[in-house]
Amino acid sequence: MIQKERLQKDFDAMAQLTGLGEGINRLAFTDADWEGRQYIIDRMTDAGLDVEIDGFGNVIGYKVGTNPDLPIIMVGSHTDSVPNGGNYDGVAGVLSAIEVVRSIIDDGFEHEHTIAVVDFMCEESSRFGAATLGSKAMRGKLTVNDLHRLVDKQGISLYDALKNRKLHPDAIESMAYNRPVKAFIEMHIEQGKVLEHKQKQIGIVSGIAAPERFYVTIRGNADHSGATPMNLRHDALCGASKIILGIEEVTSMQEEPPVVGTVGIAEVVPGAMNVIPGSVKLGVDIRSISKVARDSVVFLIKELIDVIAEKRGLSYTIEPISKESPVSMHSSMTEEIKRAAKSLNIEYIIIPSGAGHDAMHWTEVAPTGMIFIPCRDGISHNTAEFAAIDDIVAGAEILENVIKNISLVSNTLD
Ligand SMILES: [Zn+2]
Repeated sequence: MIQKERLQKDFDAMAQLTGLGEGINRLAFTDADWEGRQYIIDRMTDAGLDVEIDGFGNVIGYKVGTNPDLPIIMVGSHTDSVPNGGNYDGVAGVLSAIEVVRSIIDDGFEHEHTIAVVDFMCEESSRFGAATLGSKAMRGKLTVNDLHRLVDKQGISLYDALKNRKLHPDAIESMAYNRPVKAFIEMHIEQGKVLEHKQKQIGIVSGIAAPERFYVTIRGNADHSGATPMNLRHDALCGASKIILGIEEVTSMQEEPPVVGTVGIAEVVPGAMNVIPGSVKLGVDIRSISKVARDSVVFLIKELIDVIAEKRGLSYTIEPISKESPVSMHSSMTEEIKRAAKSLNIEYIIIPSGAGHDAMHWTEVAPTGMIFIPCRDGISHNTAEFAAIDDIVAGAEILENVIKNISLVSNTLD
């Protein structure tokens, strides 16, 4: 049985490992991150897991099954944090996975497949500007070049950060995880408000959205704000405003599957009270779990920009930043999680993930599923981040139920 007090104790202990600054500051490979990681290693060891550390520092704790030759069941998340972050993002998934294994041991449950609990290194992009690096390393997607290229604000490369922790950056290209995996599952806080709003304890993730990002620079004429009559202006900011509202309208119209669009950057040049804005650079981020839906929204947005610019006598350029692929969770895992939730009488909804997670790297390897639990007011990446222990326990109970079920050879996950 999942033990609430035992789990709470782990959260309390992790909450003490804060690093310097307000909230949790376990930036990847810093001393605070290393203390958090050591706490996880110690709890895995206490539970009797065989702990293995790979060349990137990923921590893998094995609870060997009755047939060690079978593919493994992988369950995990991360314990690094953003600056001034909270104690639940990632941590909820790792601590719950450890508690699940402890519970399985307490119950004397005989699982045929080996269960591997993973604490993935460097999930947050805060330090090196790239996310889910531990998973990427395990999937063989990083090169020595990448490790030199990724540099933090102090000028320390990921290569040196690994060296400083006595890890093995030079072996990065040959350290892909090569044991067969039967299934991957991750529990995580939602980092949004939907579960709270719908008053559900569990979200079963349908897919993980990925962004397409681009800059739009709109150019007009930076004329005198007093001497230029309204009908002779080419105001770049007025055009940009129409574009921003248009992006909101176009994305809102796409309902199923939903698309979200954000203009988070607007740089106005010259930015003076007495000069009509001559140019505006907008940073646009469009996301969905459906590439088709996202592509069609981006197409409409580009048409809209063209129409608005033309009408207002403005010119524009579009500069692509990134275009990543959304991933779907595997239906056999989604069904497993549903079945577990129903059998435990826990209310759930199916929900897309707007944020990226380690799970997205395992969808190509094995049937992959994700469980969301609510976080207060949807707040995350913030000192106010909070998840209730009862919700964490509900998530852990589902996690345990699923893992027990799929750890038997008779469950083939088709
Ligand atoms: Zn996270």
